Amino acid sequence: MAQPLILDGRVVAKSIEADLQKRVEIIKEKSGITPVLATIIVGNNPASETYVRMKGNACKRVGMEPKKIELPESTTTEELLSVIDELNRDDSVCGILLQHPVPKHIDEQKCFNAISLDKDTDGVNTASFGAVTMGNVGFKCATPYSIMTILNYYGIELKGKHAVVIGRSPILGKPVSMLLLNADATVTICHSRTVNLPEIVKTADVVVACVGKANFVKREWLKEGVVLVDAGYNEGNVGDIDLQNAAEISSAYTPVPGGVGPCTIAMLMSQTVESAERKYL
Ligand code: NAP
Repeated sequence: MAQPLILDGRVVAKSIEADLQKRVEIIKEKSGITPVLATIIVGNNPASETYVRMKGNACKRVGMEPKKIELPESTTTEELLSVIDELNRDDSVCGILLQHPVPKHIDEQKCFNAISLDKDTDGVNTASFGAVTMGNVGFKCATPYSIMTILNYYGIELKGKHAVVIGRSPILGKPVSMLLLNADATVTICHSRTVNLPEIVKTADVVVACVGKANFVKREWLKEGVVLVDAGYNEGNVGDIDLQNAAEISSAYTPVPGGVGPCTIAMLMSQTVESAERKYL
């Protein structure tokens, strides 16, 4: 069998960032304003700290300004809602990212839904999901958008293909399933109650794993020539697919690290620039 194609998210992210730098320059030239991405982090989850720092750095690389809001673990839903409300009304802010996950006592979806649609550049508001699903204008959820952008960049055909998504979370499994459906794939969504998962996965032309369990998808479950998209990111830098054994029977795969993750940040930047263009140009 031919060597599988590596779907390198870093390469895709780099090309997107290069384009964004030019677009931000134009915004600055024409409006004299530097677009701001506000990031909210609640509590002190070290992984979230790292993600927010990486997003801040990406923001600076493309010429925008990050505005970091750090809130204590004890923040209530009402307090977080009031911070979001303030950012919604702040004219300088073009995008709002509420870093997931927030502490368990906070109603995360209620807070996501409070982000105004024109600033929801991470695509987490239920109304954004609805708009995107129905093919209307709306910001896409960043990780699903990253997956679709990578597949498109490498020319992976989706029309008529059987895509099996493992996971149905609001920020990943569900929205990526809708994007695949809109790209004319035939989509099966699996979850923890799915019966005969390996048999279903065996029929897939494209597998998107978003389970949150290291090396969960086994080589024996896969059809030869399958396209593997591994959105998982687990302790020890491993994904949800046992890529060490499975990659060689695929036709293409996203590595972990260096696949879906780096491009996700680029999609957040891209939608924030889009929001700024709508506002200032
Ligand atoms: P999540 O909210 O925990 O959802 C996990 C999903 O997997 C759920 O729908 C669950 O089903 C399903 N599942 C769990 N056990 C299963 C099993 N044995 N068989 C089949 N399905 C099973 O996780 P998430 O937020 O979607 O994240 C998933 C992974 O993606 C994590 O590794 C996370 O770190 C990674 N991630 C990566 C990025 C990125 O940018 N690269 C961004 C976000 C997340 P039920 O619904 O039935 O419980």
